[in-house]
Amino acid sequence: MRIVVGGVPGVGKTTIMEEVSRRSEYPIVNYGTIMFQMAQEKRLVKHRDDMRKLPINIQRELQKKAAEHIGAMENVIVDTHLTIKTPAGYLPGLPIWILERLKPDLIVLIEASPQEIADRRAKDETRRRDMESVKEIKEHLDANRYAAFACSVYSGANVLILENNEGMVEDAVKKFLGAI
Ligand code: ATP
Ligand code: MG
Repeated sequence: MRIVVGGVPGVGKTTIMEEVSRRSEYPIVNYGTIMFQMAQEKRLVKHRDDMRKLPINIQRELQKKAAEHIGAMENVIVDTHLTIKTPAGYLPGLPIWILERLKPDLIVLIEASPQEIADRRAKDETRRRDMESVKEIKEHLDANRYAAFACSVYSGANVLILENNEGMVEDAVKKFLGAI
């Protein structure tokens, strides 16, 4: 089964996936890392952050090749984003030309309340996430739901909405393992 995991920054995707990787045989891949490895093989970039400076047609080509690579794996969990918030609006993480190559069977959307997410971002000193109000986080949560169900209709993948409530990582991990 190919599983796509999404959720707004700071909701707890990596925290949950780290625990899942200890308890399941599924390989967990990061979409951006796969793209970077492919760019390195072609000697297009030396650093991950240089990828977004490549011409847009080359970035799209890398994005497609990464989707083909993942789509050829029988069992995989893909850590990615359903939407990416940019100053020019929400960028789709899985436009149709990626979705048809990736062929997901299940989309897992990790959620928490906007206040919980704001608090987690504020407390997490290991990362430099954008400052957002509770209202802005709520909008991003909504955008991810719309994107998840649009992807579901196009691909036939189920959508599982997984609550990662405060202090309840273990519950979310158990529900995730139960679904796969
Ligand atoms: P990003 O998309 O930016 O990589 P993420 O979704 O992977 O974010 P994490 O890095 O897993 O988010 O978690 C963000 C912070 O929230 C971390 O400090 C983590 O310890 C904390 N956290 C995650 N889940 C919970 C929870 N259920 N209760 C309390 N704190 C949590
Ligand atoms: Mg993460």
